[in-house]
Amino acid sequence: MGTTETEIKQFRTSGGARVFAIPLQLFPILRGFVYLVVEEGEHHPCLTLIDSGSGMSDSNAGLLAGLRAVGELLGKAVDFAQLDRILITHGHIDHFGGCAQLREQTSAKVYIHELDLRNLTNYEERIVVVSKHLEEFLVEAGASEALRHRCLELYRITKSLGRSITVHGTYEAENFQIGRFQVLHVPGHCAGHVVLKLDNVLFSGDMVLSHITPHQAPERLTHYTGLGHYLESLARLESWARDIEMTFGGHGAPIMDLEKRIQEIREVHQERLAIVLDILKQPHTITEVSQKLFGEVSGYNILLALEESGAHVEYLYQRGLLEIANLQDLENSHRVVPIRYRRV
Ligand SMILES: [Zn+2]
Ligand SMILES: [Zn+2]
Repeated sequence: MGTTETEIKQFRTSGGARVFAIPLQLFPILRGFVYLVVEEGEHHPCLTLIDSGSGMSDSNAGLLAGLRAVGELLGKAVDFAQLDRILITHGHIDHFGGCAQLREQTSAKVYIHELDLRNLTNYEERIVVVSKHLEEFLVEAGASEALRHRCLELYRITKSLGRSITVHGTYEAENFQIGRFQVLHVPGHCAGHVVLKLDNVLFSGDMVLSHITPHQAPERLTHYTGLGHYLESLARLESWARDIEMTFGGHGAPIMDLEKRIQEIREVHQERLAIVLDILKQPHTITEVSQKLFGEVSGYNILLALEESGAHVEYLYQRGLLEIANLQDLENSHRVVPIRYRRV
């Protein structure tokens, strides 16, 4: 383990590829990693970058410094021009935002899953569309006008930092195989989330993280996300990744026991679902559920807590375990109204 925040850690896969973990300050309060994978070739090495940082200036500077530091370790200069491909794990800005600065400095091909393609190529459109869904969700969730305003503002400010980028290929078009990397679609945290396998190593993006359970939002906001898809993906990943010995996530330390970590994450959600069911013995809105689950939260966590609660309520409702307690209100209004859920 490194002693400084900027130190590059290196690993080697069972097939001999070198993996360099480059730490980045993605946002003022969010750190994470991109990974540079170097595979020796007949004539020259093949360089694959997994994710690209957020595109914020600290993140961009960290990425450039990281590549240079890798060059020193390899004994030859490494910069953006030498990258062969950039494999994006999912369409969240902290993972693909860095591609914008790379565009003019590299001819590396950028790949994404087709369900997240619009996040990258039509970024501005997506902010508008998701803002609309979010606004309706917040009304239904029973958020006060002030809370809705605050959440929408937080969403738009954070998202306004990115911009659309060019994509060269989708994993579908390549039959889920890019060079020696095998790709598995694991929707849930994001609609087009993928994980990448190389030899005995897995790159998990935000699908599985070592220190937190990856954030869940209701499918109500974006199709193909939601807790149901996420839990199904966890199960699929568990059997697909049986031969994995080391997992590198988009944030946090490497995971040495993937099966155990998957089980821990699963248990957190099962526990949370049980608590939500218990809370909803009495009718409550999603905002009230969120307050009971997470207490007082501040900043961007207000929105994250509401979305996480919404994902759990939605999961239970989809499976017939909840009903709407104030159906009359919905019936009598042409507009979106706050919904109170109750256990069946
Ligand atoms: Zn993410
Ligand atoms: Zn992330």
